[in-house]
Amino acid sequence: MIAIETEIKTINHFIGGQAIPATSGRSGVVWNPATGEAQAHVGFANEADVNAVVANAKAAWPAWRDTPVSKRSEILFKLRELVDQNRRRIAEAISAEHGKTVPDALGEVARGLECIEFACGIPTLLKGEFSEQVSRGVDVLQLRQAHGVVAGITPFNFPAMVPMWMFPNAIACGNAFILKPSEKDPSAGLILAELCLKAGVPPGIFNVLQGDKVAVDGLLNHPDVKAISFVGSTPIAKYIYETGTRNGKRVQALGGAKNHMVVLPDADINMAADAAVSAGFGSAGERCMAISVLVAVDSVADPLIAAIRERMEKIKVGPGSDPTSEMGPLISREHRDKVAGYMDSAKEDGATVTVDGREHPISNSPGFFLGTSLIDNVKPGMRCYNDEIFGPVLNVARVKTYEEALNMINSNPFANGVAIFTRDGGVARQFQMEVEVGMVGINVPIPVPVAFHSFGGWKASLFGDLHMYGPEGIKFYTRNKVITSRWPDPSTSAVNLGFPQNR
Ligand code: NAD
Repeated sequence: MIAIETEIKTINHFIGGQAIPATSGRSGVVWNPATGEAQAHVGFANEADVNAVVANAKAAWPAWRDTPVSKRSEILFKLRELVDQNRRRIAEAISAEHGKTVPDALGEVARGLECIEFACGIPTLLKGEFSEQVSRGVDVLQLRQAHGVVAGITPFNFPAMVPMWMFPNAIACGNAFILKPSEKDPSAGLILAELCLKAGVPPGIFNVLQGDKVAVDGLLNHPDVKAISFVGSTPIAKYIYETGTRNGKRVQALGGAKNHMVVLPDADINMAADAAVSAGFGSAGERCMAISVLVAVDSVADPLIAAIRERMEKIKVGPGSDPTSEMGPLISREHRDKVAGYMDSAKEDGATVTVDGREHPISNSPGFFLGTSLIDNVKPGMRCYNDEIFGPVLNVARVKTYEEALNMINSNPFANGVAIFTRDGGVARQFQMEVEVGMVGINVPIPVPVAFHSFGGWKASLFGDLHMYGPEGIKFYTRNKVITSRWPDPSTSAVNLGFPQNR
């Protein structure tokens, strides 16, 4: 029998407006999570590739910085139209490499599009401040100026939205941007690069550098990269923040999460169950804002769990490209196996595995599928509670009081998102004030802020001072410059060694 080798495509960098193959000879496999088969290779950058992309971006930058802000806005408007027209193409590329369903991927594109729309308002967002006559004949002007070359390093779980959290603001502010997407699903970033070029973003202003740690370290250590935005797991976020800031760069590094949803006894059970199932199992739980711990207060636990189980049984798990699927596979075989392993650790640690996703028939198919799981009687200290599982597993922690729920959440090292379900406005307001988490939902399970606010957690979920996108994104991608000026009559000039003060 003759073995037939099927040729699979190679995914390249995008540098200076062109597809450029990696020169390292190293590459990674891009899997099709629904079939478990390799579908492409992605070339990995070496130091020479990093130097090439940075040099290209640096050379392109001055002309872009000097492009009138109204012209940059016009180009972003065109980009907005192109991304809008290509929603489905981007969503299908995401679904093919990530595994999430196409409607879910369309949602991610829509949320990214909002960030482009925000950046279209750059002429207003970049307006400076002016103070006249701060001293006799002296005026002060305050400006925000671009850094130069900036980079964004993104995770696998939102291959289009997270880049769009970063690059529209970055380029609108007048920077040149290098995207280092996840090596697991690198194609959506390339579509965005192609659309930028088509919209009129000059070559070299939006680049894509493919790769792994070597590419990331190259960017972290390159003196011409002035600012780095990162989104990913907490250990890597901490590493990026520490290395980047040690090298004198501005860094915002968003990390992992363990998001709690508190359900008080007065909550509407059906509404809470709908929210918990949607936010726990949407995108197979691979969302940084997924609900992973349900904190059931007092008498609410049993009826809530019954309502959740009823809904879990009806979830259709299948390939992301199948329009009837509600939940797709996980990103890789290793990740699926790691998530499945939490059922064993939960039992060993004394929790109750009420629904074991490994028993779902689809878990035996060649794709990286796992059915939905529910673990009851979870407590802090158990591995299924302490770790970010990042899969379709909902933990239930039973507590007696609101105070106990609050204490559990505030003791957790992660602090990305949290939600409370109640009909009591007073308690909800108290929670909003007392909870030590960056993004809070009141009867809203996934409180991702809209594009004209900013996104960010607290504690181990964010390293850095500024949150991502929205007004804080504009601050991140610019530096403040203050100009003090006077135009005196030379005849009044005299030497004065005293410290300048108001006269
Ligand atoms: P990850 O940390 O493994 O990878 C993120 C990026 O870092 C990728 O581009 C990857 O190539 C790079 N990277 C991986 N290992 C590295 C290393 N040793 N040195 C340098 N760079 C390295 O994260 P992931 O698995 O792609 O994504 C899932 C994680 O991202 C979860 O923890 C999730 O909570 C988090 N996340 C957080 C947010 C947020 O807003 N806080 C949003 C989305 C995802």
